[in-house]
Amino acid sequence: MIIFMKKFSKWIFDLDGTLTQNNIDFDRIRNELNIPKNILILDHLKQLPATVAHELQEKLAVLEHEMISETKIAPGAAELLSLLQSKNFLLAILTRNTKENAIRTLEQIALSAYFSWDTIIGRREATPKPSSDGINLILSKWRENKDDCVIVGDFYLDIESGQNAGINTIYVNETDNCSLANFSFKCLGDIIEQLS
Ligand SMILES: [Mg+2]
Repeated sequence: MIIFMKKFSKWIFDLDGTLTQNNIDFDRIRNELNIPKNILILDHLKQLPATVAHELQEKLAVLEHEMISETKIAPGAAELLSLLQSKNFLLAILTRNTKENAIRTLEQIALSAYFSWDTIIGRREATPKPSSDGINLILSKWRENKDDCVIVGDFYLDIESGQNAGINTIYVNETDNCSLANFSFKCLGDIIEQLS
């Protein structure tokens, strides 16, 4: 079946590395929290005893917060969101970061006006990606079904969450592509080209 991107009217974005240039130094975080390399940070925390996990969760949020001031907007992000908004499409954020950090990041890169706080979903509002929970929560807040809904992200967990929710997926990564996604692009500008 051919999927037409122009039909997508409900857009869910990953934040870090998708609308921002990759700012979060996950290896530094792993180092500071004593987490082995190549292990997903949230997965590692989940299997620790609750008190230890809680302490590390707090440290993690602080480290992520510290990195926000360095954050730069991804090329094409403002143009893409402005195009989608001009078409009256729905926009939301789904991040494995916290909602608070996501809001600050959006402010830092001057994109906060495109999103309603209600549909900025962090790891405490729903089970993190690859779970479909966050997508379902956003759809329920919109009071919409999943038709013509798409998630855009730079990491395989973004694509997996979209597949788990049964929505369309766009992978955006400069150095990599993802055969599991419906579309795989190098940059956000490539999406703008498909829509115009
Ligand atoms: Mg990301």
